[in-house]
Amino acid sequence: MTDLKGKFTTIFIDADDTLWQNEQYFRNAEAKFIDLLKDYTGPEGVQQMLWQKQEENIPLFGYGSKTYLIGMTDAAMDLCGGSLPDNIYYGIKRIITDLAFHELEIIDGVVETLEALQGRYQLIVATKGDLTEQMGKFRASGLAKYFHHCEVMENKDEKNYLELAAKHNLDPAEILMIGNSVKSDIAPVVNIGGWAIHTPHDVVWVHEMMDMPQSERIIEVKNITEILKYL
Ligand SMILES: [Mg+2]
Repeated sequence: MTDLKGKFTTIFIDADDTLWQNEQYFRNAEAKFIDLLKDYTGPEGVQQMLWQKQEENIPLFGYGSKTYLIGMTDAAMDLCGGSLPDNIYYGIKRIITDLAFHELEIIDGVVETLEALQGRYQLIVATKGDLTEQMGKFRASGLAKYFHHCEVMENKDEKNYLELAAKHNLDPAEILMIGNSVKSDIAPVVNIGGWAIHTPHDVVWVHEMMDMPQSERIIEVKNITEILKYL
């Protein structure tokens, strides 16, 4: 078994669907949107249009529920033929408000794991998304006491991780990233020479889907408590 004890001083940990539940709320919002618009085209047509508009808006506005609001509004505009009935617009706003203010649910095993790691490593949250939204979730989570810092990243590609490492005076080889997304948490960190532990989540956003790269610097576990065997 790979022993990583003493190899790192600092660990980066993803937040959404690693520390707390997230994607299930977006899926729920998507289902409500499909229900709202399904009479304009079939459910699959609504879903495809929403995915397309979301992909168009992410590069412009980043991640988070506000971008989802724009994506839903754009999709509805197209599906409704260029003008938006009141009930559709306010229906979308209600869906997004429910999404943005849902109660935070900490994933099983997270608190015990952070308690075990605290004091032995400098722990940093590495999340991406809307600054206000992510910091709000971080404060509301009650987990802030375990962390040295919470970084809300613009994106999670190689360049962003190199910048985050430099900010904390870390060599890329000293980075260990823990997270649920192969595309955002695992692949970019391993590509710059770091290490990664994949803590899978059963709901994966289509935007984040990617095959697991082959690397001896990737460790796959079943759940977050299992990482303690390696650290
Ligand atoms: Mg995540």
